[in-house]
Amino acid sequence: MTRRCVACHEITPPNNINYCPNCGHDFRRRPIQQPSSNDNDGKLSHSCEYKSVCVEYLRSLNWNKDLFNREFNRCYCKNCYRDSFPDTLTEAGSLYVIPRGWCRFGLQVDKVRADVDNIWRNWIVTYHGTSAVAAQSIVAHRQFLIPGDKRIDGKKIAILPGHIDEKFHIYTSPTIAYSGHPVYCPSVRFQSNITKKYYNARIVLQCRQMPGKFQVQRETIGADNKRICPIIPNNQVEIFTTVRASIVPYGLLIHLAETN
Ligand SMILES: [Zn+2]
Ligand SMILES: [Zn+2]
Repeated sequence: MTRRCVACHEITPPNNINYCPNCGHDFRRRPIQQPSSNDNDGKLSHSCEYKSVCVEYLRSLNWNKDLFNREFNRCYCKNCYRDSFPDTLTEAGSLYVIPRGWCRFGLQVDKVRADVDNIWRNWIVTYHGTSAVAAQSIVAHRQFLIPGDKRIDGKKIAILPGHIDEKFHIYTSPTIAYSGHPVYCPSVRFQSNITKKYYNARIVLQCRQMPGKFQVQRETIGADNKRICPIIPNNQVEIFTTVRASIVPYGLLIHLAETN
């Protein structure tokens, strides 16, 4: 039987785990509530056209299906994640900004890694916006890449033009509003066979990141006083680290915007 986390409404694995893999909620503190009869979140997400088109786009990328864990799939489109649901949750003492408008496909996370570092409990939620091939390289290699590393297509990772030169850092953000910016996250034009419409598709990795191993700084995309995220101020939207093992991706987020 499907069970959901009482804190974040995520579907949780059926086996005996103590913490919600999505938000870290401790199941031992409170009894687990079964969905009530009027809780039709599951039905909504099953019939979501947006999610169906995201699935279609994901298939077009041709990633190995063994990389995924569909238990953690979740659509955050406006139909599936209602306006009345919270914009943020607290994870490991930090704000988790819900990726409204995006659809998540759960990724397999190494159990030893998750248990040893207790990542669902102690690590914060961050985002990493990148191209589809770079994201695939990160997930397939089971680690983040830093400039100088080679992707699976053999191309060297370079710092994107216009970004900070000569710094071998991995950049993430506590908000998808920043990670999803075109500087990090190029759009790809995609036509759906379901809707026959064209979309600009973007990809962001949703991650758990180890506190104490990163620094926080202001935006570096020249936004000046233009607010990027309604929740996280501009002077805290960028996180960087040199410790590649301090970030574990657990979801592939897809965003589709209709275009001509
Ligand atoms: Zn949860
Ligand atoms: Zn949806």
